[in-house]
Amino acid sequence: MIKVTKNPKETEKLAGFLLGKILKNFSSKAVIIGLEGELGAGKTVFVRGLAMAFKIKSKIKSPTFNLIKHYKVGDRTLYHLDCYRFKNHKDLKILGIKEILNNPKNIVLIEWSDRVKKILPRQHIKIHIDHISKKERRISIKS
Ligand code: ADP
Ligand code: MG
Repeated sequence: MIKVTKNPKETEKLAGFLLGKILKNFSSKAVIIGLEGELGAGKTVFVRGLAMAFKIKSKIKSPTFNLIKHYKVGDRTLYHLDCYRFKNHKDLKILGIKEILNNPKNIVLIEWSDRVKKILPRQHIKIHIDHISKKERRISIKS
């Protein structure tokens, strides 16, 4: 699916729509979502939209410095990672990534997922965001 959004609100809404799909196709595995796109593309805005749809009240900021954050969603946990500072997947090992990706209760959002491709399971949702203009973004969603 490819959509063009005209402002951050539309991007957040699109993320909410994705959430609907995730919940419908109930999976017995962790839900892994990789986000690609240059700095300022809107990856964090997308995560924020998803968190809003999940009714997470905490403010979602890019975890560029904390690397990883997690939020409770009912009996599930939403993880938000930012791999901007990572060279490759080896840097993820210290975070116990295997356990996180293997727990079916987890929903894992990974910014700059292209840097850690090797560790992602084949079955994951890939979001790619491209700048079109100051406020327009082309968002491709593949699952
Ligand atoms: P990234 O995490 O990809 O580095 P952010 O989500 O932090 O990017 O920032 C995206 C920036 O682009 C925000 O300042 C946001 O307000 C702005 N923006 C403008 N138009 C859009 C749009 N259509 N969708 C998402 N963000 C947008
Ligand atoms: Mg970001």
